[in-house]
Amino acid sequence: MDADLRSRIEKTAGLYPRAESALMPALYAAQAANGGWLSQEVLAEIAKMFRVSLSRVRGLASFYTMFNLEPVGRFHLQVDTNIPAMLAGAEETLEHLKRRLGIEVGQTTPDGLFTLSEVEDLAACGTCPVVQVNDRYYEEMTPARVDELLSSLRRGVMPEMPVTANWGTKCDMLLHRRGKPNGTALAGYVADGGYAALEKALSKSPSEVTAEVKASNLRGRGGAGFPTGLKWGFLPQQSERPVYLICNADEGEPGTFKDRQILEFDPHLLIEGMIISAYAVGAKLGFIYIRGEFAEMAEILERAIAEARAAGKLGQNILGRGVSFDIVVHRGAGSYVCGEETALIESLEGKRGNPRLKPPFPASEGLYGCPTVVNNVETLATVPYIIQHGSEAFRKIGSPNNFGPKLFGVSGHVRRPGVYEFPLGAPLADVLAEAGGVEGEMKAVIVGGLSTPILTAAEAEGLALDYDACQKRGTMLGSGGVIVMNRTASIPRIALRAITFYAHESCGQCTPCREGSRVMRELLKRIVAGKGTVNDVDQVVSLCGTIRGATLCPGGDAYAIPIAAMISKFRGEFEAMVSGGGAKTAPVLAARA
Ligand code: SF4
Repeated sequence: MDADLRSRIEKTAGLYPRAESALMPALYAAQAANGGWLSQEVLAEIAKMFRVSLSRVRGLASFYTMFNLEPVGRFHLQVDTNIPAMLAGAEETLEHLKRRLGIEVGQTTPDGLFTLSEVEDLAACGTCPVVQVNDRYYEEMTPARVDELLSSLRRGVMPEMPVTANWGTKCDMLLHRRGKPNGTALAGYVADGGYAALEKALSKSPSEVTAEVKASNLRGRGGAGFPTGLKWGFLPQQSERPVYLICNADEGEPGTFKDRQILEFDPHLLIEGMIISAYAVGAKLGFIYIRGEFAEMAEILERAIAEARAAGKLGQNILGRGVSFDIVVHRGAGSYVCGEETALIESLEGKRGNPRLKPPFPASEGLYGCPTVVNNVETLATVPYIIQHGSEAFRKIGSPNNFGPKLFGVSGHVRRPGVYEFPLGAPLADVLAEAGGVEGEMKAVIVGGLSTPILTAAEAEGLALDYDACQKRGTMLGSGGVIVMNRTASIPRIALRAITFYAHESCGQCTPCREGSRVMRELLKRIVAGKGTVNDVDQVVSLCGTIRGATLCPGGDAYAIPIAAMISKFRGEFEAMVSGGGAKTAPVLAARA
């Protein structure tokens, strides 16, 4: 390992209270310096540097998909084929790439220039098909754009390829700076009234800030909809241990690509929200755990953090008020389960992203065993408005018990897939109209990201998009990832793609999730291939019942509930695919009675 790389790793390790947290950044740095992959020798050097075992480092690197343990080509082409991408034609994009390169998935061209991979959701659901080349996204890909990309890469140039990326706002609270030139810069943010909420917050006591957020009844935007102020209230009042604030920017749920908008277009809004929240909960250090694929967004955040620090809005003695808080940006490395808060904490500690058994909850024993609050990007970005305008103004937006603005990522069969900001409780029909309307006739819709139960077109009729209304219809608002399917969509194929994703992402810690997802994937493969039986369909349903509520983290429910819903609502489609009319096949896994 050369001296420069070593010193960069040491500098990064100095940012964390415990050096082992820098193991993942060290792997990234070493991978980049070693031609895009991590050899056994490189892993051994990192192990030695951190004084940990080689098996620990190898176990870490092998858990995350973005660390390559085999050599890859100079350009690593990674095609997202998850459901929103699949509905937008990603499988055709992949086939086109295979033909043009003359290789299959997992192979490298003989000249060592290209490696082709099929990857899971890249949070580009509104701009897919998407091809990630090394760390960079190429979106809205057509065969012609793929050819343009390849010819540029063959000349050794990563091309600029503009995208339309539709968006719109009815609230002007979370997205409006997106349309402004220089919108990510501090000057633009301040000119727009940015950081005034921070001034106001620091003129109050931390408990007054918490009380304001509590009074707003802001519900967490990561998926659960749990009240943010209440979550902060779970922290011990007088802690002798440090308190940490973590921003969960590990946006990885298929259909969800809304946090990305804030990270990419309004980083200071998130930073201001984090400083105010940290002041309220007494945190001196915070982390933005950002999904590994968002390398460009991580750079935008780093720049904005440096700007805020230089302007005295972050770091020591913020705004001269004697308050200190700083932020470290930490990249994940390709693991959906790290979106679960305890898995995220494990990952931040430099370990495999295995969820922890709860209790203890992070509020009492989180990062490094200390009190920790984990909030979603959109949640934290909403805090400045509440402080600036007051909880009463906030409660005037949205519907009863569901206040404030919400970002909805709309993908699938709509004419203008993109991200749209509406007050909570907005009619689904209005959001879809803003997204250009459904292409053809709607068959079904998922409104809260892939882990929420599907609705038939009839069930979605007249639906208001808020936490309570969705629950009354038997689904969840989740993260607000709306995936629209028209009559051309095959629900069994959607179910197969869903379980392929969850089987790939299962951390493997508990048997029902690890084995159940694999068995369900094989059963659904058989069904979709026309080789299954009605008994196979019944086995999938039975497995969903076995897995539901029987796993260590919500990872099992995340597929058991939606797949059971797909079969119960579209059973005819599954049965039409099977052959054998109910003939018994050998059970693949004993189901719970
Ligand atoms: Fe891991 Fe799945 Fe168990 Fe969650 S439910 S801990 S993802 S194996």
